[in-house]
Amino acid sequence: MFADIVIIGAGVVGLAIAKELSSNFFCVVLDKHPSFGWETSSRNSEVLHSGLYYPKNSLKTELCIEGNRLIYEFAEKYKVPHQKIGKLVIAIRNEQEEKLHSIFENARENGVQEIEFVNDKYLKEFAPCINSQCAFLSKNTGIIDTHSFMKCLEALAIDNGTLFSYNSEVIGIEKINNGFEVLIKSNEGDIFSLKSAIVINSAGLQSDEVANIVGINDNDLQLNYCKGHYFKINSSKFETKHLVYPVSDSAYGLGIHLTKDLNGGLKLGPDTLFLNSRQIDYDVPNHLAEKFYNSGKSYIEGLTIDLLSPDYAGIRPKLQKPDEQFRDFYIKNETERNLEGFINLIGIESPGLTASLAIAKYVKKLVI
Ligand SMILES: Cc1cc2nc3c(=O)[nH]c(=O)nc-3n(C[C@H](O)[C@H](O)[C@H](O)COP(=O)(O)OP(=O)(O)OC[C@H]3O[C@@H](n4cnc5c(N)ncnc54)[C@H](O)[C@@H]3O)c2cc1C
Repeated sequence: MFADIVIIGAGVVGLAIAKELSSNFFCVVLDKHPSFGWETSSRNSEVLHSGLYYPKNSLKTELCIEGNRLIYEFAEKYKVPHQKIGKLVIAIRNEQEEKLHSIFENARENGVQEIEFVNDKYLKEFAPCINSQCAFLSKNTGIIDTHSFMKCLEALAIDNGTLFSYNSEVIGIEKINNGFEVLIKSNEGDIFSLKSAIVINSAGLQSDEVANIVGINDNDLQLNYCKGHYFKINSSKFETKHLVYPVSDSAYGLGIHLTKDLNGGLKLGPDTLFLNSRQIDYDVPNHLAEKFYNSGKSYIEGLTIDLLSPDYAGIRPKLQKPDEQFRDFYIKNETERNLEGFINLIGIESPGLTASLAIAKYVKKLVI
């Protein structure tokens, strides 16, 4: 069988790429799981970010801002459940105000629209459970039903003629004359192969391993797994119209924030825990409740530890090592390595969900 494009990975990014490219090409999407979105794409905060934090001129900023706009348009058009509920970024202590202002300035320089400082009266009315010294509102931040979004992308790609092959793990990729031969193992253990002019590596937590298969094993493209846990708040007494993100002291995540789901449920998280191994373990130990409580009580009035229960966890595929500063998404057609047509997406951590439709357009430009 010969495809124009093979996409490895049916997470939100692989699905968005399939939807985008399938109007011009015959695409085959391969995923080792029985359906789409079994890994990180189903284990995140479901937040549509507005691009406040990332450095100017980075792909994360560019694709987050564009992706934010595209995803709202998409969700409106295809009736994907979502809410543009906005997010408050808050300083809890006086000494955090400077950092709050620098986040605001960074966002402004990035071209983020619809951000403004709010006063005490506003906070009392729209986030009465929140203790804050100073806060600004990002109106373009929102939440989305990620499963429905992915289902819709899959359906649109299928309508365009894309073939989805689930239970299909890519175990080999070889450069051939006019493209690549991809070796696939089914979950019954059968091995089959597929030839394709272009291969797109959108394999999330395994994207560095898939790159290794074609001989790309640079040290700085090896992923570091960074786990994020969530705790549910089992009470309806906490009122906030917006998501609430305290200024974070961490260089690796946005701090333990307060997120709402589409049903109005509240959760705290995610924290950041670099893992020493590549073992995927989504356990949420009870003993972490204290850490979440200590963080939550610093800005949520009346929070008690008995209201918290373990919810779920996700693992960030980070290029950034624990002692490193910012690392950008790595999205490249590997022409310089004599692998023209092999398109690598590595380190697609947050804001990968928000940016997914913009990432797909960016990849399209690398293909055409
Ligand atoms: C805790 C946490 C919170 C987050 N919160 C947000 C948020 O609020 N907003 C936001 O925008 N982003 C957020 N993100 C980031 C976002 O979830 C990811 O960027 C996005 O889901 C990545 O999608 P993906 O398709 O690249 O990867 P994945 O969803 O991991 O999909 C990769 C797929 O590749 C498949 N695969 C891997 N290897 C192979 C192989 N050899 N053969 C076949 N298939 C293979 C896997 O089975 C998997 O289905 C968060 C992430 C985490 C961990």
